This record gives sequence, structure tokens and C-alpha cells, in this order.
Amino acid sequence: MYTLIKITDSPLRTRFLLYFIILTTAPVLVLGAVAISLIDASHRRDVSALELQLINQKIEETEKFLERTLGVLEVVVGYDQKVDIELTQQNFFLDGLLSENDAFEEVSFASVDSAAYGKETAKKSKLYKNPELFTVALLPKFIEAKEGKTYISEVYYTLKGPFVTMSAPVRNRNGIIVEVLSAEVSLQEVVQSINAGSIGARGGIVLADNNGRLIAHREPIFASGAKIGNIFSIKRVLAGEKVDALQPQDRYESLFYKEPVVGAGKKMPDLGWAFLAEWPLSDADAVINGVRNQVLILTLVSILGVLFFAPLVASRLTKPINALKSGAEEIEQGHFDKEVSIATKDELGELGLAFNRMAKGLKRLEELKNEFVYIAAHELRAPVTAIKGYVSLLVEGRAKGGVTLEAAEFIDRIDRANEGLVHLVNDLLEVARSDAGKIEIAVQPVSLGAVVKDVVATMRILAEQKKITFQVQGEIADLHVLADPDKLKEILTNLISNAIKYTLGAGALAIKYELDQGMVITHIEDTGVGISFEAQKKLFEKFYRVKAAGTEEVNGTGLGLFIVKQLVQKMGGKIWFVSQEGKGSTFSFSLPRVS
Ligand code: ADP
Repeated sequence: MYTLIKITDSPLRTRFLLYFIILTTAPVLVLGAVAISLIDASHRRDVSALELQLINQKIEETEKFLERTLGVLEVVVGYDQKVDIELTQQNFFLDGLLSENDAFEEVSFASVDSAAYGKETAKKSKLYKNPELFTVALLPKFIEAKEGKTYISEVYYTLKGPFVTMSAPVRNRNGIIVEVLSAEVSLQEVVQSINAGSIGARGGIVLADNNGRLIAHREPIFASGAKIGNIFSIKRVLAGEKVDALQPQDRYESLFYKEPVVGAGKKMPDLGWAFLAEWPLSDADAVINGVRNQVLILTLVSILGVLFFAPLVASRLTKPINALKSGAEEIEQGHFDKEVSIATKDELGELGLAFNRMAKGLKRLEELKNEFVYIAAHELRAPVTAIKGYVSLLVEGRAKGGVTLEAAEFIDRIDRANEGLVHLVNDLLEVARSDAGKIEIAVQPVSLGAVVKDVVATMRILAEQKKITFQVQGEIADLHVLADPDKLKEILTNLISNAIKYTLGAGALAIKYELDQGMVITHIEDTGVGISFEAQKKLFEKFYRVKAAGTEEVNGTGLGLFIVKQLVQKMGGKIWFVSQEGKGSTFSFSLPRVS
């Protein structure tokens, strides 16, 4: 027979569960967090690299445009002598420049010759047929070029967009400067290059000149030439700060996009123009958010998995321990036959086997003890009965006045003591028989009313001596139960005698019946001392006696209720009680009814 192992809430299992959950979820959480932060960091670096790469590309394109355009103006003419170029040739040359270069709006020659120093000699414009000629001697475009340098002015803004003025010296074959050639250059090509630059789906570039005015931006929110130098991010780039999309302040609410962006910027070395790349976060972080969510979901799923499996693992670990615990409890209850079953082939499995061997040993010991008690009680019965016989002869002799008063008193005491001894020996014998399974019961239909009447008749005197009223429910004459008549008498005698014994002083005793699903229940009610809550749990154990105030003098062995329970159960019934300390108890037992 195997013990049914029921896993109830156990602290050990809870502890296992906690350890398991902590040991498994902590690394998962740490790994998840590390993975997310690594992914995040690498993503930030990628964003920064992409933005800076685009900026570098745009700076390069802008520089190339300016260089190329300026290169066109650096002319060397085919003369040796230091003289002005002929006017027709100048005009012809300027016409050629305008028609071949989209960027040029207006081109002009200015003289370096002392006679016409600083005066424009020829000028061609895409807007006017005959543009006016001015003296430019004091303008930087003339001064710089005449000194042999090339010149690019600050950006200025017209209805046609941003422009710069460029100028360069015209030299003869000997390297002597003979004219200054200048041009008004549209930056439309730069604007287009900036507008075409993109990162991701929506990221783009802002270009501002060194004075903080807008040259170009993809989103036409500000007009060309608008003053944007005070916008925080532009200001930082113009101030030469490090803006590389990695600083905390590189993530901000953009005025161009009207939403949070990540920005990176650079200042063009020579002209000091500011290039700022901005990428809306919703676009830049779209992919990484997906990855982060996946890592998060994976982490959560792992934790849920752990939470699901942890109780199973904990149960596996505590199951054998709980089996041993409930096995030990069975043994404590005297059930030595119960075996624990631990299926594992490890130390715990071996412990289970050892436990079962120990239970067998205990069972053998119990059997030996029962045998001993049985033999001892059996052997004691004969001398005790003999003593009883002789004492009753003495009691008779005392009645006839054959003994002294003192001897009479002793005889009385011997009689009472021997009576107790007889009781004990009988109870012991009965218990030993019960333990050895030797109680013989022969059930037959018995009139419950007749047996109760019989027992009550002998008990009534005892009750009356203690001023306890006796009440037996009447209509039981034809109630028959299936029982062994002698054992039924023993049960009733025991319960009624207890009810009398444990009622100190006057009281009331009642016997009542009840029919319940083919059983007859007999209730024995008393108004005695009652039984405390703690004592109730042990009441049917062998040799258990309650230590209640006032009952110290009451004779007893603590075996009566144990025997009664065995007898009731053997006859197919049950026994129970309800009791309230100080108020009284009701003992009830059921027996099968015979109709
Ligand atoms: P005992 O020989 O001591 O009466 P029992 O097995 O009959 O042994 O009873 C065990 C203990 O239960 C008693 O010692 C007593 O303390 C308590 N007991 C039994 N019946 C009653 C009762 N009707 N009222 C109060 N206590 C009782």
C-alpha cells in the first residue's frame, strides 16, 4: 500500500520556488537589459555615422561647386604685354561665360590699368540687356582680385535665391594681372544638392551661412535667407561645438520638423557655413524600436516560461520530502503498513527505502509489544480474579462481624483497589486483542431498546447516588440494529459510565436516538465537565486521559474510548462527540439499522 502524496503548501517548496525563480530570471533580465543597451548604443553610433557621412558628402559637393565656379573665373589671356583686353573681346568672352554657366547671373571685367583703375569695362547680365558700369575700386571683390587672390563674398539673398559674388584676377602669359573678372553666382546648385540629401525616409539637411541665415532646407518652412542663427542647434554648429548625434542635447524638438529629432552638424572650414543633419526620431528609431520590442518580448516570454516551470521543478524536488513527511505522520498515527514511494534513483530514493525498512522494524516492535501486553494481561487475569473471589469472602465475613473495625476498613480498600485492577486487566486484554486484530465480533439483529434498558438499569443507581437525573427517549422499543449484543452493552456501559464519572455533582444525562440513511445514531448527552479543545484531538488515543480540574480522583485507564471506537468501527458504525468545556459533552455512535 502506498501513501498518497499530496503536495500542500510547504515552506520548503516556496523557498525552492523563490531560489529557482531568482536564479533563472535574474540572468534573463540582466541579459535582456544588456542586449537592449548594446543594441541601443550601436544604433546611436550608426545614426551618428550616417548623419556625419551625409554632411561630409554635402560639404564636399559644396566645396567642389565653389572651386569649380571660381576656377572658371581664373583666366589667363594669350598676350605677353601688360595691356587691357580689347573691349569686343571682353564682351565676347563674357557672353560665352554667361551662356556656358548656369550659375552666373552677371559677369564683368574691371580694369587695373592706372587710367581706368577700378572701373568696370564690360558687363553682361542675364537680367538686363545693357547693365550699368560702376567703379568698383573700393569693393573687396576688386581689391582682393587685383592683389592676385580669388574672392568669395558673403551670401546675399534675392528673389531668385541665395547668391555670392566671386572674383579672380585675369593674368597674361607672364603672370601679370591685366583685369579683374567678377561674377554674381547663384547658389541654386548647392540648394538642390542640400534638398536632395536624405537619411532614412524623412531625415534631411539644413544649410545656414556664417551669419546664421538659411541657404537651404528640404522642408520649406523658412524662406531663403531667413535668420535661423538663434535656433539652438544651428547656434551650436556655428559656435563650433561638437554636434555628433551622440550627446544628450543632440536629441531635441526640431523647429524644422516640429517633432523630436536626432541631429549632427559641422561647420564648413573656409566660409564657416553650418551644415546640420536632422532625422526625426520616429523614423530613425523605428527599426531599433522593433528590435527592442522583440528583445523585450523574448525576455518576458522566458520569464513566463520560468514562472510556469518553476513550480513543477520545485514540486519535483519537494515531492519526495513531503512523501517522507506524510509517511512519518502515518507512523506517528500507528499506521506502520503505509510505505512511502520515491521513484527517484538517488539518495532520496535510498532514504525512502530506508524509511520503509524502519517502518517495518517499528511494526515488528509494535507486534511484540502487543503480544507481551496480551500475555501479561492474560496471565494477570487468573490471580486477580482469584483475589477478587477471596476478597468477596472477606467482605462477607466482615458483614458477619468476624473482623475488627480496622481490618474491615482495609478489606474495603483492598476490594476497591482490586476492582480497579480487574478493570485495568480487562481493558488491557481488550486493547491487546484489538491491536492484534483478535477481537471477535458476531453481529446479529439486536433490539437497541432492550440493551439500553439493561445497561441503564445497572447504571441508574450510580447516577442517583450523584444526583444525576436520567432520561431515556421512549419510542425505541422496536429499533433493531446489527450488532454483537455483548459488545453493544460494553459500548453503552463505557459511554454512560463516562458521562456519570465526568459529571461532578448534580447534572442531567439523556439518551436519544436518531435515524439517518439506514443507520441508527445513539446520543449520550451529559452536563459534565466537558472536554477542552486541545484534548478533543487526542481523546480516542490509547491511555489518554484529560487533566481537567476536579477529575483527578476519578478512576480510569484512558483505554475505554479507544476500545469503544474499535468496537463501533468493527460493527460498521462511527463514533464522534461534541463537547464544550464546562458545559458538557454528547457522545454519539451509529450502527446499521435492521428493519
Ligand atoms: P477513562 O478510563 O479515563 O475514563 P476513557 O478512554 O473512557 O478513559 O476516557 C478518556 C478520557 O476522556 C477520560 O479520562 C476523560 O478525561 C475524558 N472523557 C471521556 N468521557 C468524557 C465525558 N463524558 N465528559 C468529559 N470527559 C470525558
